[in-house]
Amino acid sequence: AVRCADGSVVRAGRLLIATGLVDELPELPGLRERWGRDVLHCPYCHGWEVRDEPVAVLATGPFAVHQAQMWRNWTDRVTLLTHLRPLAGEERELLSALGVAVAEGEVTGLEVTGDRLAGVTLAGGARVVCTALVVGPRFTARAGVAASLGLPVATVERAGAEIGTCLEADPVTGATALRGVWAAGNVAAPMEQLAGAAAAGVRAAVAINGDLIEEEGLRALEAHRAAGRGGGGAQGASGRS
Ligand SMILES: Cc1cc2nc3c(=O)[nH]c(=O)nc-3n(C[C@H](O)[C@H](O)[C@H](O)COP(=O)(O)OP(=O)(O)OC[C@H]3O[C@@H](n4cnc5c(N)ncnc54)[C@H](O)[C@@H]3O)c2cc1C
Repeated sequence: AVRCADGSVVRAGRLLIATGLVDELPELPGLRERWGRDVLHCPYCHGWEVRDEPVAVLATGPFAVHQAQMWRNWTDRVTLLTHLRPLAGEERELLSALGVAVAEGEVTGLEVTGDRLAGVTLAGGARVVCTALVVGPRFTARAGVAASLGLPVATVERAGAEIGTCLEADPVTGATALRGVWAAGNVAAPMEQLAGAAAAGVRAAVAINGDLIEEEGLRALEAHRAAGRGGGGAQGASGRS
């Protein structure tokens, strides 16, 4: 059974967990309020909207340079804000070759004009103009329901760096380690987007339906035998002939 916040209880024979993830954002004043508007992470989601605009990438993790490269596909006005992450010599050379500017120093705040991002300020007082700020959130599985069932949460790595957590589930069917419980979408696969999350839901639904059909078949068979109508199909057929 699943207990809801309003006190109601839902009973079901199978459970599909599709609770998504929490984007853990960098701690900067005013940043959270602009998430999904002009504080962004995914060029495949928002690239078109900010094409040719000044975009700043906040370096908070190992993929900052890669992010700068991805956003460079959409605009030639990309600035990498080194923030608290020093750049290696090779990274600087690559950014220079790609025409990505580098702004040194800790970012201390966002500048917003008329409810639109206008830039960021650096510790020394300098200002970098940008209409979009790219961050690299940590993807934390929203796994409270799963945890209440004792299901394990694993760390997710990409290119050797930890990027978040996920509920462990079969990548095809979504089956978890607990019989009767499936998972689909970002809770189990943080890199999926809408289409992938929806597809995982479809695959899990098929697996759940298959499991229910199997159980119904077994129940029918038991009832059939209990009623004394047992025996193989071939025998039954020969008996009738
Ligand atoms: C800013 C932003 C922009 C994006 N843009 C795009 C885009 O343009 N294209 C694209 O393909 N993808 C985009 N994505 C990614 C996309 O939103 C996700 O991949 C997708 O929503 C994942 O679907 P999901 O069903 O796994 O999780 P979610 O969509 O997060 O749904 C999970 C649901 O479960 C609910 N929930 C959680 N815990 C509980 C609980 N205990 N009880 C009951 N309900 C609960 C939540 O409230 C939520 O409604 C974007 C993501 C972000 C953050």
